[in-house]
Amino acid sequence: QEAHAAQMEQTFIAIKPDGVQRGLISEIVSRFERKGFKLVAIKVVVPSKEFAEKHYHDLKERPFFNGLCDFLSSGPVIAMVWEGEGVIKYGRKLIGATDPQKSEPGTIRGDLAVVVGRNIIHGSDGPETAKDEINLWFKPEDLVSYSSNAEKWIY
Ligand code: ADP
Ligand code: MG
Repeated sequence: QEAHAAQMEQTFIAIKPDGVQRGLISEIVSRFERKGFKLVAIKVVVPSKEFAEKHYHDLKERPFFNGLCDFLSSGPVIAMVWEGEGVIKYGRKLIGATDPQKSEPGTIRGDLAVVVGRNIIHGSDGPETAKDEINLWFKPEDLVSYSSNAEKWIY
């Protein structure tokens, strides 16, 4: 049993139903993986409408809330936890701006999506939401702790 000091930063990333239906799972996973981040939990799940509402509770006053929750619960979602130094902020950078029309080329949304209502991926926007979203989607025992050989070349 390895004693580990401070927990490495973690974020919640989800490939939304449009990304899954369009066959973009490996493309998206690959971008996080090649950057040097580590996948510590992953599952395929069709969230219920109630679950989607919990996930997006911060947006419940917005006019698109109902449609957004219908959409998130409309098919399989790939729920993931990614780990690494700066992964919350940099994960958002890999994803790009919320509206794909404003996302830079080179970002996931910039390269792969066109409209805000079908922007293929979710990423936590800060340390608090990362913690809350990981806890909402996963049980603590779903998260794996391991060291990879690549790490000594990344850090
Ligand atoms: P992000 O996913 O970049 O964190 P928000 O948290 O602001 O963006 O919004 C959550 C999701 O709600 C977005 O990813 C997008 O799918 C949807 N959304 C945001 N704004 C709009 C809008 N104006 N119209 C339709 N859907 C929207
Ligand atoms: Mg958000």
